This record gives sequence, structure tokens and C-alpha cells, in this order.
Amino acid sequence: MLIIGLTGGIGSGKSTVARHFETLGAPVIDADDIGRELVAPGQPALAAIVEHFGADMLDDSGRLDRARLRERAFTHPEQRRALEAILHPRIRAEIQRRIASLSPACGYCILSVPLLIESGWQDLADRVLVVDAPREAQIQRTVRRDGVTRQQAEAVIASQADRHTRLRAADDVIHNEGDLAALQEQIEALHQRYRQLAVERA
Ligand code: ADP
Repeated sequence: MLIIGLTGGIGSGKSTVARHFETLGAPVIDADDIGRELVAPGQPALAAIVEHFGADMLDDSGRLDRARLRERAFTHPEQRRALEAILHPRIRAEIQRRIASLSPACGYCILSVPLLIESGWQDLADRVLVVDAPREAQIQRTVRRDGVTRQQAEAVIASQADRHTRLRAADDVIHNEGDLAALQEQIEALHQRYRQLAVERA
């Protein structure tokens, strides 16, 4: 199984790209989805978070109050490290479990990890595919999609790897600065390429 690590900054178009690969038949494993599933009520990771951060991390229905946890973790670097120590090994283990369960007939799979570079998780993938977009496009798409302010979008961008660092780590790049048709064309070309690479490796 050829594993393509898909990454990109907020608003670059990663989720749109992942969805299109999926419609072409590629299995997609999404690290953010796994992260959310791992903190559902009853999951050991949620118990570990409550043990470390306190019961006030839960809302009235016993679910994780993500906004409160995010605020705590992102304003205190040592708390952020503590949270990562709880979540990252579990997310990685689940990613590996899902990869192992894929049918080899798929050829390749997309592993979507928004913070692939920041977390140093390139080792999970055979190739790194970066979705690159101009900063202004990232801001405008994020403002429109999430209903946040320009300043909030800029703050998230500032907390992520910069464009050049991400591009240096890339084996393949999708340039998402045009319309959706231009985006899909690039994805379809890569789909053919990855299928070919998977055959060559087999
Ligand atoms: P990410 O997952 O990287 O944060 P998304 O794929 O969710 O980004 O894209 C952010 C927003 O911008 C979404 O609403 C998406 O539909 C839109 N979008 C992405 N690429 C394009 C494009 N080339 N043209 C128009 N809208 C786009």
C-alpha cells in the first residue's frame, strides 16, 4: 500500500482535495476524524484528558468541551504538550491499524493530516502531498467557511508551518489558486500517477 500524506494550511483546500480523491476510489484516512472519535464519551483518551485537565473539560452532557480545552492547551505550551502526549500516540496507532486493514487492491491511500509537518509525522507516509494556496486565498476561504474574522484566520495561519517549510517537505504539490475545475484536474493527474507508482512497487 502506497501511503500519500496529504497536508496543507487552513483554507488551502485539503478537505476538498481529500473528498475528490475519495470519489476517484482512493481510501481516505483522516487524522482529525480519528482525533475526534478518540475523545468520544467512554473512550480512554477522554478519561486521560479529564484526569490531567480536570472535569471542567466536560460539558453538561459529558462530552469534551473542545473550545475550553483548546483555549487551555493553546495558551500554555506545557499543557499543549500534555494534550499531545495523550492524543498523538493513540492517533498514530489508530492510523496504523486502519492502514493495515485496507485491501492491497486499493493500490494507494490518502492519509490526511493537517499538521503532518508540524507534528513530524512524515514517517507515516511514503510521499508527502502538499496543497498550496496563496495566503490571501487561505484567509478568504477560511473567513467564508468558518465565519471567523480575518484576524482569527491569520492567527491560525501564523500558528502553522509556513508555506516554504511545507513546500520543502513536499514530494508533490497541488496548487489551489484557481477554480475547482483546475483543482480537480491536478487531483486526477496525481490519481493516475499514484496508481502507477503503486503498481511499480507491488
Ligand atoms: P482545508 O481543509 O484546507 O481547511 P477546505 O478544503 O475546507 O480547506 O477549503 C476551504 C473552503 O474553500 C471550503 O469552503 C472550500 O469549498 C473552498 N475552496 C477550496 N478550494 C477552492 C477553489 N479552488 N475554488 C473555490 N472554493 C474553494
